[in-house]
Amino acid sequence: MRERSSRVNPVNPSEEVFTQLHIGLDDVDATVGGCTTHATYLLLKELLSKFRTDFQLIDYPNLVRLNPAVPYKTRGNGAVVIRSVVRKDIINEVIRETTEFVSKYVNSLGFRPGTEPGIAAVIGVVPESLRKLYLKALTDYVPRNYLMSLIKETTKNTEVILPYGLSRGVTGALAGIGWPEGVDCTYELLAYRKELSSCRPRCVDPESIKEMDQLFREETFLNYDYLSRRELITPHGPDPVLLGIRGEDPATLINAYSTLRVCEEVSGYAIFRTNQGTDAHHVLRDAGRIRPYQTGCIKASVASKPKNLMGGTSVIELGSGGRLYAAFFKEAGLSKVVNSLLPGDLVMVCGTCHLWEGLGRVIHAEKLVIESLINYKLMNPRCPKCGARMKSAGRGKGWKCPKCGYRAKDLEKEKVPIKRSVDVGTYLPPESSFKHLMKPLRRYGKEKKCSYVRPAEGWIK
Ligand SMILES: [Zn+2]
Repeated sequence: MRERSSRVNPVNPSEEVFTQLHIGLDDVDATVGGCTTHATYLLLKELLSKFRTDFQLIDYPNLVRLNPAVPYKTRGNGAVVIRSVVRKDIINEVIRETTEFVSKYVNSLGFRPGTEPGIAAVIGVVPESLRKLYLKALTDYVPRNYLMSLIKETTKNTEVILPYGLSRGVTGALAGIGWPEGVDCTYELLAYRKELSSCRPRCVDPESIKEMDQLFREETFLNYDYLSRRELITPHGPDPVLLGIRGEDPATLINAYSTLRVCEEVSGYAIFRTNQGTDAHHVLRDAGRIRPYQTGCIKASVASKPKNLMGGTSVIELGSGGRLYAAFFKEAGLSKVVNSLLPGDLVMVCGTCHLWEGLGRVIHAEKLVIESLINYKLMNPRCPKCGARMKSAGRGKGWKCPKCGYRAKDLEKEKVPIKRSVDVGTYLPPESSFKHLMKPLRRYGKEKKCSYVRPAEGWIK
């Protein structure tokens, strides 16, 4: 008989003794954006030092952003996932430790209405059903009965533990776990303040942010908006995040961070792998079908001349076989482009769908791609006799010349070439108004297929 080994090589843990454990956290504080990552940062420090080789990360912690259009989410809307291999006999201890830690963390913040933390743990390989949930939570609204039946389906073959039960945060926690491999990703280094609830402005030398941006511009993004002269790496709320540097790979982020001149006490940092800056929520949808709270891209022709509303919002109607509009808000800075569109131009508009009184479905646009522009306008035909522009003789009655009275039935409208003041191409808002999931111009062409990656030395301090 073969002897059952109890000692395992930590680099290649035996499946008998070790198993994958994926823990998702969401809504650890709904009102303060950076808290879920901060709780994770502290929790990971604790788990790694307590369990050592019995608990090993198989990926950087994931920061998974979900549908920004879902109404009760006011800010961040990001779940965090910890992916590990653990000794089977400590699973319960790891989960208990996590739950106690989160409770303590949430309580230490005091009661905040609207907070419903969610914890979910999946033991073993992540099942396909959760990938489905991820896509749904990223691009659509997840009704409670959908979540219930999905959990039922998932738990047939997979062990799922929900220590807080079906709290609202569970959707995000499970969806985050379902974020698949093989799709584009980026990284974010998040550094935390020592003085946690400080309302004082963050102290990072702005010049050093610009220098950092210049040095690492190929591999980082959303550092500084040169247009509005605003630093983008530092948030403004009273949350514990000092700064976040977003980029293509962990090593660059550590280098970039080391060049910043930070003039306040820092408690430390951690690197997260994330779906930020990837346009993951821009799935192609049918214009006739997109519903409120869904995200996505619609390809359609412009149906009528753009309209301008009070407050600087420009609206175009999209030809869809159902009423559908796209709204470009003032902050997007795209009014000039949008107002030069003409009926018949072919566009793709990406964003989130909302319901407006009086208009119906309106896409709040995050991106405009002009695919083709009509280069002529249709004018009434010229009179074959005298050359004057003819007029309609009435519905179905053909044309009549106002000058010489000549009538004709079978003349076609004339295509008159026009010059356009816009070009085909991709139009994005200024970086200062970017939301987490939106892909900045700098990232175009840098898309990659990501897998779980064992964190490299120095990823957490
Ligand atoms: Zn004529």
